[in-house]
Amino acid sequence: MVSHDTISTPDVRDRGFQRLLYVDDAWEKFVEALDTVSLSVEDVSISASLINRVLAEDIVSPISIPPFARAAMDGYAVKAEDTFGASNTNPKKLEIVGNVDIGDVPSVVVVSGTAVKITTGAPIPEGANAVVMVEDTEKQDSYISILAPVTPGKNLAQQGEDVKKGDVVLRKGTILRPADLALLKAIGLQKISVIRQPKIGVLSTGDELVDNATELSPAKIIDSNRIMLKAQILEDGGIPVDYGIARDDPDEIKQRLEQALHECDAVLVSGGTSVGPKDFLPRIIEELGKPGLIVHGVAIGPGRPVALGVINKKPIILLPGYPVAAFLNYELFAFPLLKLLQSVFYSKRPRDKIKARLNRRVSSKPGQRDFIRVQLSEEGQNLIASVITRRGAGVLTSLTRADALLIVPEDVEGIEEGTEVELELVRYF
Ligand code: AMP
Ligand code: MG
Repeated sequence: MVSHDTISTPDVRDRGFQRLLYVDDAWEKFVEALDTVSLSVEDVSISASLINRVLAEDIVSPISIPPFARAAMDGYAVKAEDTFGASNTNPKKLEIVGNVDIGDVPSVVVVSGTAVKITTGAPIPEGANAVVMVEDTEKQDSYISILAPVTPGKNLAQQGEDVKKGDVVLRKGTILRPADLALLKAIGLQKISVIRQPKIGVLSTGDELVDNATELSPAKIIDSNRIMLKAQILEDGGIPVDYGIARDDPDEIKQRLEQALHECDAVLVSGGTSVGPKDFLPRIIEELGKPGLIVHGVAIGPGRPVALGVINKKPIILLPGYPVAAFLNYELFAFPLLKLLQSVFYSKRPRDKIKARLNRRVSSKPGQRDFIRVQLSEEGQNLIASVITRRGAGVLTSLTRADALLIVPEDVEGIEEGTEVELELVRYF
């Protein structure tokens, strides 16, 4: 791990900031300051709402799946040996001695020279070791002519073929997906142990903010960050807790943050994070507890005035007020934090990638990671990435209209028009 003293400083400076950190260094410093943050574990009933929850234990199957050998086709359960050499011109004749339907417990035994009619999914009767498809048979009264041979094990699922009793089927730390839930259900579990969902407090700050259009007056704007951040938290498996809007008043902000830090596992605040006269947040974080402010200013565009703090082991992220900056900094720092709290280690959100050609030159500050929002369109065989030109940190539509992000790394100054670039998809279409 890099020691703090040796973390390199980007060339980019911003007025008022001591220095800007590279994104990756900022995250590393934050994690180091957090120490151990993992949440407690809880036992919960198996249900679809466990989607994206994180397993806190290895899962051992108490049963085998399938629990019994079963037919994989409609046809006849036979001894495979009785069918060897069978063909259209040389049918093998077997006596039908019974019938097993789905849900039936077979009462007959297949002995040499006999067959039992069977339905897909029904248990294989004792003595049989294969199923002949109905299409390869011809029925005459109580006899069946087998027109093609089967090998032992053909057209049936063995007991425990999928899962054997005692198998570890899912590992601790697995993020539960729909098929995992099906498996947990199939092996008959009723409760499992998962990591508690992180409670994340969300607070907006700013004298200009109102909650609704009915409160709008000249020079006021509607707080749109809170709903966005709450939705982001929900999407990532956290529980958002709303602390409303605080005025640009250090006492009011401090009091709300104390409450949020007390009630939640982490807190996201937006607004007031920079170095202007009304930007009280960084100072408040220093006053709230130790170790306080860990990072202030990161070399990204947009979103530089982000700050990361830790107060008595609780993480707090100060997001710049501009909506695009708040969104991107959530992605960069809050997403991996939510995962970290659940003992899942991601340094960034894994996103699907796509290649496209740039419709115009993109310039980017050296030493800064830029997040360019683009729209995708098809032109003949080519996929074109059109840069959204009205793209300030406050232009919310640069996010809503974007299909993908072009992330320009710190060591790249600009990318020429027509270059094929790799993009991260943010919206599917
Ligand atoms: P600040 O980070 O407080 O300097 O705010 C930067 C810009 O973002 C200002 O134009 C604010 O009006 C705007 N802003 C701050 N908070 C919010 C919010 N919760 N929703 C929408 N815009 C905001
Ligand atoms: Mg403000």
